[in-house]
Amino acid sequence: MTEIKKAEERSLNFIEEIIEEDLKAGKYKSIATRFPPEPNGYLHIGHAKSICLNFGLALKYGGTTNLRFDDTNPVTEDTEYVESIKADVQWLGFQWANELYASDYFEQLYGFAVNLIKKGLAYVDDSTSEEIAKQKGTPTTPGTRNQYADRSVEENLRLFEEMRNGKYPDGQKVLRAKIDMASPNMHLRDPLMYRIRHARHHRTGDAWCIYPMYDFAHGQSDSIEHITHSICTLEFIPHRPLYNWMIEQLEIFPSHQYEFARLNLNYTVMSKRKLKQLVEEKHVTSWDDPRMPTISAFRRRGYTPESIRDFCERVGVAKRDNIIEYSLLEFCIREHLNKIAQRRMVVFDPLKVTITNFPEGEVEMLTSEDNPEDANAGHREVPFSRELYIEQEDFMENPPKKFFRLAPGGLVRLKSAYIIKCEEVIKDAEGKVTEVKCTYVPESKSGSDTSGLKVQGTLHWVSVAQAISVEVREYDRLFKVEDPSSEEGDFKDYINPDSLKVIGTAYAEPALKTARFEERYQFLRKGYFCLDKDTSEERMVFNRTVTLKDAWAKEKKKA
Ligand code: ATP
Ligand code: MG
Repeated sequence: MTEIKKAEERSLNFIEEIIEEDLKAGKYKSIATRFPPEPNGYLHIGHAKSICLNFGLALKYGGTTNLRFDDTNPVTEDTEYVESIKADVQWLGFQWANELYASDYFEQLYGFAVNLIKKGLAYVDDSTSEEIAKQKGTPTTPGTRNQYADRSVEENLRLFEEMRNGKYPDGQKVLRAKIDMASPNMHLRDPLMYRIRHARHHRTGDAWCIYPMYDFAHGQSDSIEHITHSICTLEFIPHRPLYNWMIEQLEIFPSHQYEFARLNLNYTVMSKRKLKQLVEEKHVTSWDDPRMPTISAFRRRGYTPESIRDFCERVGVAKRDNIIEYSLLEFCIREHLNKIAQRRMVVFDPLKVTITNFPEGEVEMLTSEDNPEDANAGHREVPFSRELYIEQEDFMENPPKKFFRLAPGGLVRLKSAYIIKCEEVIKDAEGKVTEVKCTYVPESKSGSDTSGLKVQGTLHWVSVAQAISVEVREYDRLFKVEDPSSEEGDFKDYINPDSLKVIGTAYAEPALKTARFEERYQFLRKGYFCLDKDTSEERMVFNRTVTLKDAWAKEKKKA
């Protein structure tokens, strides 16, 4: 597994080193970062990494973080996504200094573009996108300028204004920066700044029909907000010279861009475009389907913000791309849930046990610790009676050696209750075991001295009469392979068909009647669970957040 280090043990990451140097040199009085999502989908765990990094740095160094919606593409963006992004950032435990929208800067950005035109550093090009691509050359051959690059400042100003005023249809003209068609960096070969899109924008409506490109809007927005450290992922390294060129030519606040490795997780995909396909083609039920790698799905599944922040911290800030193991994420949530989850007993696949020496109709209320890991946790009452359920798999008629559960003539302890002995096995016509008759040892009540009795196993159980039936949903990896995006063919060919298992009726101890959404539970010997939002008056639904142990590590070793 990935090396695990706690925050206080680790050395500074390279961005912290830069910030500390900048502050020491008096370059800035305080730092300003931003988280700049495009509102075209729900945030995933990769975004959580970026959120924790940007907000975490500002918290550590006493700066501020803006939430800026990078909403410069009217076609793919939506207010639904804006709302979900805000909810996710807050759930993770962060509060932005300002909620901002790149679209609020459209007028200012337009002004910047006019300035570049006036400086002879931008021109309107009438070429088609195919022509522009062709003229761009290749990384080894220089590109060529066309005749439009020679347009006068006056003509460019007029045409750009006409573009804004809606005189031209989509695709007929673009505004380009005039930089260097022979640059070895393709991004500097007269990059596009504006394109025409007659489309309604989720915030500016029909006010605009030209929209700035990422490379023009992003750095300028950083500068407008006086962002000191603009952090993005490695694929933007080649964009950095352009980022700097724009800021220098416009003579605006000098924001700086720094790049770190994006977070990749195995057995899933991590791009909004792909996640959207999974939702739209109904491979999952929704963006927050608990099998999705979105923040909202992790929340619904029972992950805690603490566990995700811990995970992001342990992953660290790398300068080279790698794939992080899903099991590290699961390690983090287990660590947290072990401390906070209330222990409960739920039988998934019941086998009836009758305690023949326990009086009929009587109920004894036993007490059990809510969480042995937490000294402040309380206790709950657990009813014990003549008729109980245990798991089918916890009984075997002809057990192999080292089967420490229930078998004919054998003893076993029932958690927080008594030691029982299997006296008789009842079967149906087909020979299937339908019931076992046991006796209990009255002086073996949990907490008493039972040194005289040798019992190896402890089972979870419920009392039949008081049990409540609930639905349980168990989740597994969404994909069968570690990196579905790099496999041959479509990534969806590698979806794990067994990623969801529904147990329609499980039997829960009555304390779960009052289960609440914000509570976390450990179903003894089963895993960690939480209440799902599909819960209704008639039916409680529980999600398995994570198993108690890493079952996949074992699977992988076998394979
Ligand atoms: P996707 O390709 O999944 O749609 P994106 O980069 O287009 O992601 P944005 O909304 O533009 O998504 O991203 C907002 C911020 O989150 C950016 O600063 C981006 O660099 C960062 N980010 C996105 N994905 C990851 C990731 N996997 N790891 C770390 N940071 C990420
Ligand atoms: Mg993006």
